[in-house]
Amino acid sequence: MNIAIDGPAGAGKSTIARLAAKELGFVYVDTGAMYRAIALYLLDNHTDIENEEELKTALKQIHINIVYESGVQHVFLDLQDVSTEIRSEKVGNMASKSSALAPVREKLLDLQRDIAAKNDVIMDGRDIGTNILPNAELKIYLTASVDVRAKRRYDELIIHGENPDLETIKKDIEQRDYQDMNRDIAPLKQAEDAVLIDSSDMTIAEVVDQIVDLANQK
Ligand code: C5P
Repeated sequence: MNIAIDGPAGAGKSTIARLAAKELGFVYVDTGAMYRAIALYLLDNHTDIENEEELKTALKQIHINIVYESGVQHVFLDLQDVSTEIRSEKVGNMASKSSALAPVREKLLDLQRDIAAKNDVIMDGRDIGTNILPNAELKIYLTASVDVRAKRRYDELIIHGENPDLETIKKDIEQRDYQDMNRDIAPLKQAEDAVLIDSSDMTIAEVVDQIVDLANQK
């Protein structure tokens, strides 16, 4: 069985998908982490992403491996585990820019479909229900107000020892939403057959329960 969860940055997709996957005994696949790993490589190598040849050459050098340890997804660039490094705002912003480019999306399409074909998955991202897994048995579009999402991201960064500014985060989220929703290829949008969940006034447990209930009904 495949469950797709899409939605904007900071809606709580990864936390909720991870918990729901645990409860259902599914594999949780965080596709944002894959885009972030590519973004990290592009940043570290100062790749000019506007230059198509340079971008394609860089993408050929990138070998992403996804490994699951006790149900937790680890992303490797070659042999290096970059799971922690990719969580910064800088990498997230680059991921939002580079993920709009066709060669970047093409690189990840088969990897994502392959994992879903071999496992019961909850896969989260931006285009899972609309593009990657159009036949997913259950599709969720998870969102929340910009203010709530900014505050959640802020709290998360504090926990990770960073020193964030709430207003900057809010602007970043708005910009990322705009980029993700208005790009030409696989933009973020609710699939026609997706269930909309607005988590602004819901607890994590409430959202997880709703998704698990919907999955059990299928
Ligand atoms: O979800 P997360 O914030 O980790 O994703 C980082 C960026 O990767 C997003 O802003 C989005 O541009 C891109 N992304 C995407 N398609 C996905 C998952 C993430 O374009 N399926």
